[in-house]
Amino acid sequence: MQLDENTIRSVVAQVLAEVGPMPSLSGPSMPDSANAFEGSHGIFGNASDAVTAARRAFEQLRERPMEDRKRVIDIIRKISIENCEELGLMEMRETGIGRPEHKIEKLRALGELSPGTEFLQTKAFSGDHGLAIIERAPFGVIAAITPVTHSLPTITGNAVSMIAGGNAVVVNPHPSGRLVAVEGVRRFNEEIAREVGIDNLICVIAEPTLESAAELFGHRDVALICVTGGPAVGRAALNSGKRAIVAGPGNPPVVVDETADLDNAARCIIQGGAYDNNLLCIAEKEVFVVDSVFDDMMAAMRRAGAVQLDQAQIAKLTSVAITQVGDDNHDAAAKDYIGKDAAVLAAAAGVKVPESCELVFGETDEHHPFVSVEQMMPFIPFVRARDVDHAIAMAKHYEHGFRHTAIIHSRNVHNMTKMGKELDTTLYVKNGPCMASLGLGGEGYLSFSIAGPTGEGVTTPDTFTRERRCSMIDELRVV
Ligand code: NAD
Repeated sequence: MQLDENTIRSVVAQVLAEVGPMPSLSGPSMPDSANAFEGSHGIFGNASDAVTAARRAFEQLRERPMEDRKRVIDIIRKISIENCEELGLMEMRETGIGRPEHKIEKLRALGELSPGTEFLQTKAFSGDHGLAIIERAPFGVIAAITPVTHSLPTITGNAVSMIAGGNAVVVNPHPSGRLVAVEGVRRFNEEIAREVGIDNLICVIAEPTLESAAELFGHRDVALICVTGGPAVGRAALNSGKRAIVAGPGNPPVVVDETADLDNAARCIIQGGAYDNNLLCIAEKEVFVVDSVFDDMMAAMRRAGAVQLDQAQIAKLTSVAITQVGDDNHDAAAKDYIGKDAAVLAAAAGVKVPESCELVFGETDEHHPFVSVEQMMPFIPFVRARDVDHAIAMAKHYEHGFRHTAIIHSRNVHNMTKMGKELDTTLYVKNGPCMASLGLGGEGYLSFSIAGPTGEGVTTPDTFTRERRCSMIDELRVV
């Protein structure tokens, strides 16, 4: 079922009406008892109420057995899978970016593959002086900031991992993805409250602002911050004075050397680069191909169904899809083109493409703005490199030191090793599409918060826990 904007707004208005009036951010908000928030189903008008309610939910969860954490996670998984179509289409309609089939698929995949309590590992040291057990303990209330590119999917993955770790979470979503965030959170909490008897384990600020984010960061009951987004939010989290897990921006380069299976490389670049219209932070953003196979690679792209733009068409697209922002007038992706279909980009370039076309591409030089900018749209620039060393050097330069994701198509293990060492990225994919690195067609597990700058990597429940050691002196070593 596809919900229109008015229906979504009326659902949220109804939810907010049931919760009560929204106090102002600065106004008094503390109720007589934190229990007063039960029945809110996680939807709050201000940060202070949300943190108070989440703290209460955390305290309740702390009293429960591990089995109850699993039950809560199973509920989130079930809703994410069973409602993926309705909620995915709601997100598509609200944000207006990406592709509907991928909005649906992302929710289903997160429901199926987000890591749960099984990721919490206890370590033990046993010796002449007894026993030390190292266990993973929750932080308490975590403040999460989520991006417009995957609003509810990020909340879903964060919620599963954070609750598996024993925490509660308050989310300040991107304002352009807040309605689906509110509706998803409402559904999760309603069912968790009914089945497990705890409300508000996942809270959301219904009208998120930079001020509500700052209030969350500064709240004394927020023990940890996890932000997923671009450079500004990463900086804000790291300046907060609290421990922050930062899942920051990327600009993933692809290198194709002379030994690569070019048809496989083309299929992979289209699969990853066109997924959700290039909104994934891990998605292929620019490709460096060694000169000896450059023309063959372009032909492979055309064979695989991508449409090549010529120089004049690329210039036309660039004039509308890349804009200049900030005091220094630096290049950035134009909002009107982020996450739009390949057909929209092609039309802007003056080309009509078949409906089946998922990606447009073309040759540029390395200085083209589509190479340096994290474009988040399904046009991919291909740059000629003298040889593999030149390709790797350019890949390193245009990854901008984010240490996020890099991809190579090659059969030469030495080249693979060299690029892995040079780029030093959190994710490094060989001979596959970007998403294979998150367990979607490759090994490993899935999360939409990949913490490069702060080093936690693909986040798991373990990421959201503190280490605690419990020592028994001189006893209980029974061997
Ligand atoms: P964005 O940076 O514009 O916004 C992300 C979130 O941060 C939003 O909720 C926004 O309201 C908030 N925000 C922005 N500035 C803030 C500030 N100063 N203080 C507090 N909150 C602030 O990004 P977006 O367009 O929503 O998402 C795309 C970006 O996110 C891309 O750069 C992409 O690479 C990145 N991303 C990274 C990962 C990852 O796992 N590393 C995952 C998804 C997206």
